[in-house]
Amino acid sequence: MGRDFGELASILAALDAGDRVGVCLDTQHLWASGVDFGGPEEAEAVLDELEERIGLARLRCVHLNDSAVPRGANRDRHANLGQGSIGEERLAWLVGHPALARVPAVLEVPGEGQGPTAEQVALAKAVVREGQARWAARRPATRGRGGIEAKGGAA
Ligand SMILES: [Zn+2]
Repeated sequence: MGRDFGELASILAALDAGDRVGVCLDTQHLWASGVDFGGPEEAEAVLDELEERIGLARLRCVHLNDSAVPRGANRDRHANLGQGSIGEERLAWLVGHPALARVPAVLEVPGEGQGPTAEQVALAKAVVREGQARWAARRPATRGRGGIEAKGGAA
């Protein structure tokens, strides 16, 4: 429900339900709505907008799915991880973002027809870990916390 964060925000406002109503972010729906989150700046922009319009505190879960349709296709068609138009590379930037570290991710992929296989679950964990590692590697350089600064040269 809700094709962008503005629509979701309107629904939440109309419900006037306070904290009892949360939202779920589905990576396939986001992609099908035309949103690119496939790089650090893009992923950051998506989460900034979510925070601004809805509030990250309201985000209760992520549905982690690849997409059987191209970005912007406006259709709800999930695909297995590694077999869709989004790809693990892009998914990792979003689902590994520090803002989502405490948000549970749910796989809603078809598997071999009966839901996620053990292989898909393992792949999902790997995608999240990969994303978290990328963000962790960027942090010292981008945010400069504390006294230890990342100096060039280390690969
Ligand atoms: Zn869906």
